[in-house]
Amino acid sequence: MMWERALHTVRNSIRWAKGRLGKRSLADAVPALRGGIITAGILLAAAMLAGAGRPGLASFPLPYLLAPSATPTSTATITASPTHTATATHTATVTPTPTRTHTATATSSPMPTFTAAPTATATCTPTPQPTPDGVHRTVRVPILMYHHIADPPAGAKAVERDLSVSPARFEEQLRYLREAGYQSITMVDLVYHLTLGTPLPPKPVIITFDDGYGDVYTHAFPLLQKYGFTATIYVITDFVDRGLTPYLTWPQIEEMYAAGMEFGAHSRDHPDLRRKSYDFLVWQILGPKQTLEAHLPAPVRTFSYPSGAYDQHVIDVLRSAHYWCAVTAEQGATHTSDGLFTLSRIRVRRADTLETFRRKLELDW
Ligand SMILES: [Zn+2]
Repeated sequence: MMWERALHTVRNSIRWAKGRLGKRSLADAVPALRGGIITAGILLAAAMLAGAGRPGLASFPLPYLLAPSATPTSTATITASPTHTATATHTATVTPTPTRTHTATATSSPMPTFTAAPTATATCTPTPQPTPDGVHRTVRVPILMYHHIADPPAGAKAVERDLSVSPARFEEQLRYLREAGYQSITMVDLVYHLTLGTPLPPKPVIITFDDGYGDVYTHAFPLLQKYGFTATIYVITDFVDRGLTPYLTWPQIEEMYAAGMEFGAHSRDHPDLRRKSYDFLVWQILGPKQTLEAHLPAPVRTFSYPSGAYDQHVIDVLRSAHYWCAVTAEQGATHTSDGLFTLSRIRVRRADTLETFRRKLELDW
């Protein structure tokens, strides 16, 4: 083999140089040594080139060249080349495949459930302050007023009975609204329409609940979701903070908000707001707004007057606290752009039949 011949030449050159060094000085010996080494080098290079064509010898390890006596063992190490096969297996098992499966199963499944929530989910979040465009607008939007969605307990007073619509009746009303083509909007949607002319659906309706009773969560909320409606729930924040029994809890409020319900303030503890001091009004109007906003991610823009009672002073404080509108207990369904703080509603009573409900809804008032 060529490389064997080359190594032989190297060995001979060294032997020859040793012999010369014995007789002559080192300076004389150098050119002769150099000549021998160059010849050996050329032969070695030729041997390597010849070996390059053969796979087993292509990657000559340098120690092999320097220790020619170890020839058989070295060839064994080369042909084995375990490191090479190891790299092959490594590339095969490289992680991109598991990572891909991970991204495929990534949280896309919970997302559709969120979009499946009631139609008006998006309306609560974008709330830039609408600057009225100065156009006077009038629109007829029935704002339904409910309190309890429950059968009143035995011995309940006449007022409480009247405020309690049975879940069966409520469902009947929601079914009617859906079949008649009504679409629920929020109070903020109404404000945008009246101040900027933002379009509303052809048959808009607003469903409101005063006082924030627990049965709104247990009875009304599942039905609203079933029929695809949103609603506006007016909360008496101190009652929730104190954990009073007939009222909603913060987790219930947060859950309903996340499902697309709108929340408004109904004061701290339901007093008559008329003829009160400025400080008292700030406490009762700004206070519940801040409390609600501590629990909900969007600003609270709507207020419901406790027992429907208000005066101009109350409206002034509402405006300064950055509320955009307020609902009364006055009956009617027509709203104007200059009456955002005196929005009338339609009271739904326990005794209302579906026919009464339909007539109230469609009445031009
Ligand atoms: Zn109330």
